[in-house]
Amino acid sequence: MTTHGRPISADALGAAIGARLPGVRLLTDPLDREAYRLDETAYLSAGLPGAVVFPTSTADVVELVRIAAELRVPIVPRGAGTGLSGGAAGIEGGLTIAFSAMDRILEIDRENLVAVVQPGVINADLKAAVAAEGLFYPPDPASYESCSIGGNLGTNAGGLCCVKYGQTRDSVLSLEVVMADGSVIRTGGKNVKDVAGYALTHLFVGSQGTLAITTEATLRLRPAPPPRLTMLAFFATLEAAGAAVAGIAAAGLTPATLELLDRFTIGAVEEMNNLGLDRTAAAMLMIESDMPGVAATEELERAEAACRAAGATDLVRAADAQEADLLRQARRAAHYALERLGDVRMEDVGVPRARVPDMLRAIERIAAKHDVQIGTFGHAGDGNLHPDLVFERGDPTAEAKTEAVKKDLYQAALDLGGTVTGEHGIGSARLEWLEVQRGADAVRVMRAIKTALDPLGILNPGRVL
Ligand SMILES: Cc1cc2nc3c(=O)[nH]c(=O)nc-3n(C[C@H](O)[C@H](O)[C@H](O)COP(=O)(O)OP(=O)(O)OC[C@H]3O[C@@H](n4cnc5c(N)ncnc54)[C@H](O)[C@@H]3O)c2cc1C
Repeated sequence: MTTHGRPISADALGAAIGARLPGVRLLTDPLDREAYRLDETAYLSAGLPGAVVFPTSTADVVELVRIAAELRVPIVPRGAGTGLSGGAAGIEGGLTIAFSAMDRILEIDRENLVAVVQPGVINADLKAAVAAEGLFYPPDPASYESCSIGGNLGTNAGGLCCVKYGQTRDSVLSLEVVMADGSVIRTGGKNVKDVAGYALTHLFVGSQGTLAITTEATLRLRPAPPPRLTMLAFFATLEAAGAAVAGIAAAGLTPATLELLDRFTIGAVEEMNNLGLDRTAAAMLMIESDMPGVAATEELERAEAACRAAGATDLVRAADAQEADLLRQARRAAHYALERLGDVRMEDVGVPRARVPDMLRAIERIAAKHDVQIGTFGHAGDGNLHPDLVFERGDPTAEAKTEAVKKDLYQAALDLGGTVTGEHGIGSARLEWLEVQRGADAVRVMRAIKTALDPLGILNPGRVL
């Protein structure tokens, strides 16, 4: 990267950080930095960071931002690196700020039903800590055992229970962020209602580290719901499963989980977990209720009726909470199950719920057109599907085919009034599609915000915009 037009070497960047933050862990060895080149986005090429640094306080982050601004070095904030859009991938010669050492839960406030956390806290650790107090933090990306709250905020992560509880954005009350000029602001407090000024919290959530760097978050908790009742519904066609999703929504139901797996994904999950799922079914829905008492049974009965009306061939209830946990874990591992079969590239299209059958049909058509194996699973209750492209390992045509398939998938989603990314983000992987989806005027507004908040363009440049 450059300072006043001159490139800054990794050595010079490391030396500047070492001199001003002598106590902070810093990686300068190229082999160590290599581990921070990529996130989980399989088809990305990314740069080698010039330095990787692990702050332990907001003051450290402020100093790092000042150094980066002085040297005109781009900053990549990084949580656990599980992102699927290249948002935390390295920038050649840039400064990657990794938040794994800012991983404390600062407060669990029962009276106000909030938790105050540092960004490096792992989602599952927060869930476990609040569960021990009889409380519940809803956002649950399938990667919840490895991804961080900072990354969840960066991407506005979704997950399995968004259909009832919303995305990460819906569980955030306030952020402490470091701005590109090194100033520190708080966007809110513990107030449930607070409409003073612009909604900066919601502007920063999902901005993928391009507008500000999160150093603390005040998150909304709920009383822990009862253990879930879990049902699996199997269908002979993808379309019937899609119709069941639309039918459940039309019946006014909000199950805690409404997930879909297609035949290929069911097979992969079975190979890995041997749960006895019906491998001949074209699709399976996993439907869960966390309503209290008999209300849960009633909710599942009504969901069952919607599934039968759509043509479900088989309906199975989990025998107990342990079996339900196993099924949920298996769904969460769908991507890894597919990865056992080849090189996988995960996509993330979204459509209005009622168009799920159309999107499923489009995915089948696109897979056949390009002769690519696609395993589709995802958060069908949100209209958010993950078509996973599976290639034989080392297939030389994989890159070209991925590009062609992506183009058709995105266009199909947009034609159905949908989005090119439901929860993973534009990042650096889908840049050229932002304007196609949002239009030039909307992107101009986004650029104006970016320029106002980050005039030097040092915060995660080349991501989102
Ligand atoms: C198997 C698997 C399953 C997944 N399932 C889901 C799912 O169900 N739902 C879902 O939404 N995602 C899912 N993901 C994607 C990923 O886990 C999420 O996007 C997650 O939110 C990323 O968290 P992270 O800590 O790994 O963040 P990273 O990948 O490190 O970063 C993500 C983005 O946030 C920014 N960022 C990180 N920390 C900060 C900070 N402190 N301040 C400002 N910006 C910051 C980064 O710059 C980057 O743009 C899955 C990934 C995998 C591999």
